[in-house]
Amino acid sequence: MARRLTQLADLPVTELKGVGPKHAEALARAFDIHSVLDLLTHYPRRWVDRGNRQLIRDLHVGDEAMVIATVQRISARRTKGRPPKVLVSATLRDESGSIAVSFFNQGWRERQLPVGTECALFGKVGEYNGRLQLSNPVVDLVGNRTGRIIAMYPQSEKERLTTWDIATWMEEVLERAGQFADPVPAEVLGRFGLVDRTTAFRGIHAPDDMADKEAARKRLVFDELLRVQLALVRRKRTLERTAKGIAHRIGGEPDFVAQFHARLPFPLTAAQRRTSAEIDADLAAPHPMHRLLQGDVGAGKTVVAVSALLAGVQGGYQGALMAPTEVLAEQHFAGIRELLDGFTLVDETSLFGERPLAVELLSNRISAAERRRVLAGLAAGDVDLAIGTHALIQEGVAFASLGVVVIDEQHRFGVEQRAALRDKSGTGATPDVLVMTATPIPRTAAMTVYGDLDVSVLDELPPGRTPVTTRWVPIPEADGAGTAPLFEAEAPVWEKVRAEVAAGRQAYVVCPLIEESEKLEVRSAEETYERLTAGSGELAGLRVGLLHGRVAMAQRDEVMAAFRDGGLDVLVATTVIEVGVDVPNATVMVILDADRFGIAQLHQLRGRVGRGADRSWCFLVGAGTTPDGEARLEALVRSTDGFELAEVDLDLRGEGTLMGERQKGRNDLKLASLRRDREWVARARDVAFELIGAAPDLEAHPGLAEEVPLFLGDVEADFLLKS
Ligand code: ADP
Ligand code: MG
Repeated sequence: MARRLTQLADLPVTELKGVGPKHAEALARAFDIHSVLDLLTHYPRRWVDRGNRQLIRDLHVGDEAMVIATVQRISARRTKGRPPKVLVSATLRDESGSIAVSFFNQGWRERQLPVGTECALFGKVGEYNGRLQLSNPVVDLVGNRTGRIIAMYPQSEKERLTTWDIATWMEEVLERAGQFADPVPAEVLGRFGLVDRTTAFRGIHAPDDMADKEAARKRLVFDELLRVQLALVRRKRTLERTAKGIAHRIGGEPDFVAQFHARLPFPLTAAQRRTSAEIDADLAAPHPMHRLLQGDVGAGKTVVAVSALLAGVQGGYQGALMAPTEVLAEQHFAGIRELLDGFTLVDETSLFGERPLAVELLSNRISAAERRRVLAGLAAGDVDLAIGTHALIQEGVAFASLGVVVIDEQHRFGVEQRAALRDKSGTGATPDVLVMTATPIPRTAAMTVYGDLDVSVLDELPPGRTPVTTRWVPIPEADGAGTAPLFEAEAPVWEKVRAEVAAGRQAYVVCPLIEESEKLEVRSAEETYERLTAGSGELAGLRVGLLHGRVAMAQRDEVMAAFRDGGLDVLVATTVIEVGVDVPNATVMVILDADRFGIAQLHQLRGRVGRGADRSWCFLVGAGTTPDGEARLEALVRSTDGFELAEVDLDLRGEGTLMGERQKGRNDLKLASLRRDREWVARARDVAFELIGAAPDLEAHPGLAEEVPLFLGDVEADFLLKS
């Protein structure tokens, strides 16, 4: 009988002949491997192809080479330099000749490679004292494994689990498992030229050649991505089917949305009209909306979001906008209140038959009395729009009739929070939800991270923007030589700031990010401010304001208002100005220690300038202290396209960080890479929609249905079970 993965998931690894209780504990500790399925999906991290080996005799300086050779001599010594390093030198020989190999600061190599050990070495051939040499090569112990391709597994020195142990157990698993059941329809496999599951598991662990391994990988990657997509699409369909939503009135009288658009000082862009129409269709439908609005910095997401909120309000519902931080909530609050200033609603109970549209802020910074007033207003239905952080969906917050929720998130809004909304409406219906990403993420990543949402893309900037010129201003690394060279390197930046101010424009100076401590960050902002404005400072004589997280809200409003009205020339600030600040007359953005910021953050900050018709500049001041930091700054200089930058970010950071925040506990992407396997994400998603069709429970594909939960994290599983 063909094996199902669920059966293997039920078998503890101790069922294997070679695995006793000690090994089982070691496997659990080192790799979280408990079942035979866990072991089977512990994939090799590399494959050594004996067929690719080169003979030492044939090597040339500069070659990227792989040789298989035996250790003849090995010894370690300390070098003289300061600090001293451990240098391990070895001589290895194959049937054609010998080569010198050296390892720096890898003292343990002496133990790893005793004389007589056979190993595969990968590296670039160099020369030392006229002899060919490999320096710090990648080493794989091939031991006495036979066969052309040798799978190398992640091993654990601490738990004393070697790749050989794992390979031996894997052999037993494959042999005893025999044939694997294949739950993916043959037609789908045929369409994409995928091998069957038995071939795939054999091909990944014990391939005859590299082509086998590639074919196997492709199939297993598809399975991983398909399971994720099945879970996501299924959740989406289940929500649509089971949750009672609100059919909002679009158009008709009064038409707040039309009024709002008519009052804007600009026409909507085509992209704003298109995405608004997509949202309107969802709002009008009787099932709850779950939509993601992706758009670059400055694309005008706020207008689209406010339109959606107003569509709810015009039908008598309340709207809520949630921001990821207090500061952003406060900024949204100020901006939206301004946009909706003078808006009135029909109110029979009032003397004039109408009342102003009520927009309120619910944050942890408002006074207790204020908070009570807002909460009472929300419960009574007197507050039309509430703006705040996640505090908005906490317990104790009740709405009279919550109709539309906008979430301005930075990958921080998870499944649990979304579920919490279901009970918040006050009417028994689930409100419509629009999620906005503050910065774009790549399409395939969006399909995976937000795969249970529909996606709208705001892919057009409002007209009249001039692209921002970005320069990286490298400064010397702090080396104890004092700050003078550093300030010298910065000098041209401050000259530019002064020149722009002299021409009537304004500038931002963003102070170093200190993630570990708000207190330190505040201090560094204060110091920067002092230094720049001192009598001999670079910005002496200019009108400079200071803004950071510890400035009281009233005072912050004052500073912001002064900057907006041109009463300040320069604003020295922490990242509190990252999002939402909108002063078209500002033409210079200076970011200090820019290499400390992430790509998305830098892009957001840069988005604060280039908002008017004048040419703008962004100066990234920083030492490229790490290769990644350098790559980030270079990317910013090269591109102003947020979607392109998002791809670079994914390449640099990997999917781990991207997925991490939102999908802790998801362990299904072992082989698949959202970068390398981009096209497979889309294919898997299409197939998931096909297979689920109108039947989210996957009745027609029980084999797939049973294995989806095997790979889900607890949060996901909980959610699926609850709904
Ligand atoms: P983001 O997508 O980054 O949130 P915002 O909503 O903050 O962008 O909008 C950026 C700026 O563009 C704001 O000043 C806003 O008033 C302006 N804006 C939005 N839509 C348009 C438009 N259709 N035409 C001109 N300016 C617009
Ligand atoms: Mg915005």
